[in-house]
Amino acid sequence: MVDVVAQEIKCSHCGAPVQFNPGEIIATCKYCGFTTVIETGQAFSFEHSLILNKFEQASIETPIKDWMGSGFLKPADLARKAKFTQKNLVYLPFWVCSVEATSTYKGIFERISPAIVKEGTLSKEYDWLILAREAAEFPTREYEVPLQGKIPFDFRRIEGFAKLLNSEMDREEAIDLTRTQIDAHHRFLLQQDVDRIIEINTKIDLKQMVYLHAPIWFIRYEYKSNLYQLIFDGATGTVVKGDIPTARF
Ligand SMILES: [Zn+2]
Repeated sequence: MVDVVAQEIKCSHCGAPVQFNPGEIIATCKYCGFTTVIETGQAFSFEHSLILNKFEQASIETPIKDWMGSGFLKPADLARKAKFTQKNLVYLPFWVCSVEATSTYKGIFERISPAIVKEGTLSKEYDWLILAREAAEFPTREYEVPLQGKIPFDFRRIEGFAKLLNSEMDREEAIDLTRTQIDAHHRFLLQQDVDRIIEINTKIDLKQMVYLHAPIWFIRYEYKSNLYQLIFDGATGTVVKGDIPTARF
């Protein structure tokens, strides 16, 4: 397998080489933590935050074994017999868009006869999370970023064994995607009120936007000769998504 060729720019703060891969747009220097917009070479001028990881490669096994040992659906000997084959800590880049989103809609309500046309607005506030990577296998909608624990980005808190991924998405793209995803979410919510939507227009009012790195553990384990995957939140020690071997009764 050939690795993608990394390119390099010079950190404009400390002069160290900052490597980045094709497609990456914002890069963080691993020597001084300075964050640069690759295309322009300028400093990233928005808030960059970090969620702290609370586990080491040994201690992450404790909450995982607790998870394996709880619940009805798991084999009773899972926590005892599972063998860890991979424990990778990755700081994934996210955009958190705090918005007030308002959808104005017109739809047809068919549950009564004759059907009627209904109009209305749906307005909600969100801290909407956008994963700033194209291909990462991560269930963003199942992950609740523990925002209360965020600190200003501090490269000294990134463990030597961890990997920090750069953003492949700029701020404008993240805002567009937020609007599109909230529009889809509102269409889903509106199914309660109307059976068919004729018109919908979703506007977002951006209150705040944060670029954030969050600690996610990608775990693989072996149980009875099969391999399984787990995605664990390194800030809270809770599972984001996990494969469970089928319990046999
Ligand atoms: Zn630097």
